[in-house]
Amino acid sequence: MSSSPCPLSRFEFFVHKFGGTSLGDAACFRQVASLLTGPEAIGHAPAADHDHDEPPHLRASPLRQVAVAVVSAVGGVTDSLASSLRLAVDGDGAAYRSTIASLLELHTAIAKELLPHDERGAQTLAEVTEELKRDTSDILALLRATAITRSYDMHMFQVVTSYGELWSSLILWAFISHSLSSNGTTTPTDISAGGASVPSRCLRLDARQVLVVERAPGAPGDSTPNVCEAESQQLVSDWVATHLLPGCNGEHDRDGGACVDYIVATGYVATTPARTVHTTLGRNGSDLSAALFTNLLRGKVLSIWKDVDGLYSADPRLVPSARLLQHVSYREAMELSYFGAKVLHPRALTPLINSETPVWIRNTHRPDGHGTLISVHGSNGNGNGSGNGSGNGSSVVPSSGSSKTVSVKGFSFIDRISLVNLEGSTFAGVAGVSERLFRALHDASISVLMISQGGSEHSICLAVPEDKGEAAAAAVQRAFQWEIDHLKGARVELLTGQCILAAVGDRLQHQVGVAGQFFGALASSRINVRAIAQGSSERNISVVIDRVDAKRALQSAHARFYGEWSEIAAVAVVGTGLIGAELLRMLDASDVTHNTGSNPIGVSVRVAAIANSKRMLLYPTAAITAAAERLSTSTTGMAALGSSGAPSTAAVEQLDLQALERHLLAQPCATRILVDCTSSEHVAACYPRWLARGIHVVTPNKKALSGPYDTYRQIRELMLSRQPPRASCWYETTVGAGLPVISTVRDLLGTGHCVRSIDGVLSGTLSFLFNEFAKGERCFSDIVLDAKAKGYTEPDPRDDLSGMDVARKVTILAREIGLRVELADLQVNSLVPEPLRHCSVDEYLAKLPLYDADMAEMLKDATAHGECLRFVGSIHVAEQATRDARCSVGIRRFAADGPLGAGRLHGADNILVIHTQWYDQLPLVIQGPGAGAAVTASGVFAEILKIVSYS
Ligand code: ADP
Ligand code: ASP
Ligand code: MG
Repeated sequence: MSSSPCPLSRFEFFVHKFGGTSLGDAACFRQVASLLTGPEAIGHAPAADHDHDEPPHLRASPLRQVAVAVVSAVGGVTDSLASSLRLAVDGDGAAYRSTIASLLELHTAIAKELLPHDERGAQTLAEVTEELKRDTSDILALLRATAITRSYDMHMFQVVTSYGELWSSLILWAFISHSLSSNGTTTPTDISAGGASVPSRCLRLDARQVLVVERAPGAPGDSTPNVCEAESQQLVSDWVATHLLPGCNGEHDRDGGACVDYIVATGYVATTPARTVHTTLGRNGSDLSAALFTNLLRGKVLSIWKDVDGLYSADPRLVPSARLLQHVSYREAMELSYFGAKVLHPRALTPLINSETPVWIRNTHRPDGHGTLISVHGSNGNGNGSGNGSGNGSSVVPSSGSSKTVSVKGFSFIDRISLVNLEGSTFAGVAGVSERLFRALHDASISVLMISQGGSEHSICLAVPEDKGEAAAAAVQRAFQWEIDHLKGARVELLTGQCILAAVGDRLQHQVGVAGQFFGALASSRINVRAIAQGSSERNISVVIDRVDAKRALQSAHARFYGEWSEIAAVAVVGTGLIGAELLRMLDASDVTHNTGSNPIGVSVRVAAIANSKRMLLYPTAAITAAAERLSTSTTGMAALGSSGAPSTAAVEQLDLQALERHLLAQPCATRILVDCTSSEHVAACYPRWLARGIHVVTPNKKALSGPYDTYRQIRELMLSRQPPRASCWYETTVGAGLPVISTVRDLLGTGHCVRSIDGVLSGTLSFLFNEFAKGERCFSDIVLDAKAKGYTEPDPRDDLSGMDVARKVTILAREIGLRVELADLQVNSLVPEPLRHCSVDEYLAKLPLYDADMAEMLKDATAHGECLRFVGSIHVAEQATRDARCSVGIRRFAADGPLGAGRLHGADNILVIHTQWYDQLPLVIQGPGAGAAVTASGVFAEILKIVSYS
């Protein structure tokens, strides 16, 4: 025989795979036919290093072009066929018959809707229907046999489930061929509208004639087989020579247009080397079929058509903010699909790597979209991660419009796995433990998804599919029975209800800190990691976690690398009095929701919940990501809390601090902050728990920090804890409102100062009262009444005048400088005369003038001595070494020309005078407005921003 050129070299093949999601009904078939016969079908994939906005390259080719459709079954059909077998085993004849009848009806209806009702259409329909009927009666015979034997083997499963692809390819082929031949004038692009002018042909290819596969001895029947490449190649070439070559005489039609032939091939199905036994490539195997066909036909590109725009950085059903990946490398796509990205069969790319054939994932319903191009280099250009990663084509379609190269390309997870743990110190250093372990699993036909091993074989941990967990544990138990029976500590454990989460990306190899970020994201969401593995390729880091945490883990990890939720701090504001309301207004009015302009931090602060003393409003998670929703927080939200109405997105509920905490913890973001704008001890008592759970606390409420010293110490310890989740408590506004008091004191201590004394006017109300009194124009009771009328005092002015509020501030300050004081240790000289301490407010105010003379006398005496009266809080450290100190609150006299002198203070100003060994002759003075909703809220707001910028 003369050596004739390979028949394949006469053609240019473009292979397209249409999955079940693209073949749902007649309209889908029409769309598929129009894609296959339209210009998209013979376009070359865009190059990875080009702007991906350009359309597919349509190149004039001297070769005849062939668009090949490899089809899956109509969506859900393979599942129905598989279930009919189970019904047969159960002996439920009526049920399996009805399943098969519905499948017949479904396919007949699709064919009927596609084929025109003219004579030729009716003829084609009759042929299709006859084939469908013949097949279904064959299936019923097989099911009957199954029902009698009450069992079926893998071969039976493969034969029965093959019909889905046989039928979908039959219908698509009939539709396209009918359209091609019914009208000799229309261009192929218009096929769905009725016919083509070019001498195109549509051929049907049953993969069982050409695709030869075999499984390794002992491999499970449903595993992915290996292709017998030489044999398949020969059969494919022969098939092309027999079916395509004879008609291939003109590459162009009369008008110079391209002649395109079409092949509709079955996905999923294959044959075995003897070619007598039908088999399949295993569930979801059509992607692999298409890749094998692309390889065997030397296809230019494989387009995999899906119901999504391409490969996403995570399953878009679980992570709504997942990004479309424009370019990924073969290896990245393989790792992602191996670890569960359902969009692609894990082995689908293997046949195409050697030939570097590009794979293009596209959306059947949006064919002009970007899609995902899978090629050798992904988006890193030279693939070694050191190149022009950021400038060379964008890897991700960002939501903001600017491109971004991300070290982790995507996340995927394998659900329902079990961990089998072999443990025992006696295994340490003993040769062959792994070998025995893996042999046991191999003998039980169990494939291992992930391994994690202590360096010494002291413990080896294996992840296996959950349905194989018990068998795997039993196999390992059997293999190590002697050790378990005789050696102390040797045991096998099985842990169910797990899943594997994997972070994948070529750049992982070269970037420092990726694992840290990954684990940090999991830790901040309080997700416990049971086992860790890093692939030797360094393209993935995988962790085993509880499957109930899967979605949260996926979202947190994705957020950390793709930056959307990591840039959000969720805030719950408890207390909607003057300060709380002002804070909410500030949050609304500020532009911290936008990563632009005057927001230097680039973090969005979103209000997730607000509550008052009785009720709370929990905003739905989705709503807090929408700025418009957030803007309604203070207005409609607060109004809703105060009345019975509620904004549509959130429900008003009874205040339940635990539910509020759960809500905050459930927010998919890196930073959670609880702002306590109450003066409640009950809320304050929750701080340690919140901090321990990773919730930052910002508070102007003095109750927790000035309460029992042990609580203060516990809060400080939690803040300093290195153990994640780390959270801190911010309480600058408990002393001096917005003034930098606590931070200044900390800075002094941190730079070696020894604080000797602090004297301060720490109450805005008392500052006002004494500033007015010092003028000598009015009696003291008048000034109190005036201050109350102006709203400068608490409703009961005795709350200010008793000095307890100042005493709490002094307690907090004293603790900050290292003194172990309790509130009760302070010497507090109340300004409320003893006889008026327990009467009503009215009586108090009525009787207060009785004491004006005493006050006037005090003022007179002080003035006579060149001094002035101040109501101060004081801390005097007598002995640094022993921390011996005196803390007091009450009226004291100060030199009129000193820092606390008359005329130095105005209105409701606060002032702190701090002496240290270096601020000795001249003290450090902090002065400014120290009370009022606006300055306090601005201090709280500043601390929120500090948290998000430090996190
Ligand atoms: P078909 O059967 O049509 O081939 P599949 O249902 O197997 O399609 O795969 C498509 C589905 O895969 C999508 O609908 C999507 O929800 C899911 N999917 C899971 N992970 C990803 C991911 N990382 N990117 C895109 N789609 C994904
Ligand atoms: N129809 C087969 C299945 O559902 C193959 C495939 O769709 O890829 O498993
Ligand atoms: Mg699929």
